[in-house]
Amino acid sequence: MSTLKVHVLGSNSAQYFNGRYPSAQYLDLGSGSILLDCSEATLFRLTTYGLKYQKIKAICISHFHGDHFYGLMGLLTTMSLNKRKESMIILAPKGIQEYIELNLELSQSRFSFDLEILEIEDYIDKQAFRIDNIGIKPIELSHKIPSFGFLVDEIIDDIRFDKDKIKDLPLSRDHFIQIQKGVKEIEIEGQILRAEDVILPKETRKKYVYVTDTEYFEPIIPKIKAYQTLYHEATFLHELKHRAIETKHTTALEAATIALKAEVSTLYIGHFSSRYLNSDALLREARSVFPETYAVIEKLIIDL
Ligand SMILES: [Zn+2]
Ligand SMILES: [Zn+2]
Repeated sequence: MSTLKVHVLGSNSAQYFNGRYPSAQYLDLGSGSILLDCSEATLFRLTTYGLKYQKIKAICISHFHGDHFYGLMGLLTTMSLNKRKESMIILAPKGIQEYIELNLELSQSRFSFDLEILEIEDYIDKQAFRIDNIGIKPIELSHKIPSFGFLVDEIIDDIRFDKDKIKDLPLSRDHFIQIQKGVKEIEIEGQILRAEDVILPKETRKKYVYVTDTEYFEPIIPKIKAYQTLYHEATFLHELKHRAIETKHTTALEAATIALKAEVSTLYIGHFSSRYLNSDALLREARSVFPETYAVIEKLIIDL
């Protein structure tokens, strides 16, 4: 089992308000970490909360609204100033390469480490990258500009044999051991057997879903079905459904409906509008549909 934890660095939409910062979450894998969104002041919050920013191995940006990525250049620059050597994966919508290059060109600077830039559009519904035993898969959302969610899967590397396919084969104990050690082909009675023909695909545990800026969007339901934990934006109460439609955001009631239909275990809501002093009413509304709902707040740690 992994020791996966989500540290919430921001729970507000658009801007800082009443102790709530815009979106960023730090996914702690134990040996390293992945950042989901990087709003302004993300570096400040990482250091305030005692989280090691040099341990971040990948940064995923959901979309190019400022409250999700204006902290990126500052964070990368500070990593470089502190002589980072390890390369960094950036998974973001198309345009990210040009954005970073223009910033570096204007400041006539370069980073002390390599960037591996992955454009989300090339990886929809596919694993974009893997760090240790955690795989990240982007999914499409529906917002004012292209916006994407992230599925976080734990990948189990154990080799599992397909019982139906091996039952009539004269496999010895030694053959099994060889395949388990990673041998791709073995010879049995003069015939070549490919390991991939007798083993099952790697098992994954559906751990966590990060769904930020989107309107109520049912096409995500089959993709997030039965994940353990769902974070879903809930910018407004349902009485402001007209504002949710105008701005292409979700209401608390709708976020809970997605959780119910997707049969997840636990729902966390966030990205609250600054019109709400706290999350109480949003939480009440969501719980009327999906009782296992919690509100994200700064410094909250979700143990997955
Ligand atoms: Zn936003
Ligand atoms: Zn947005």
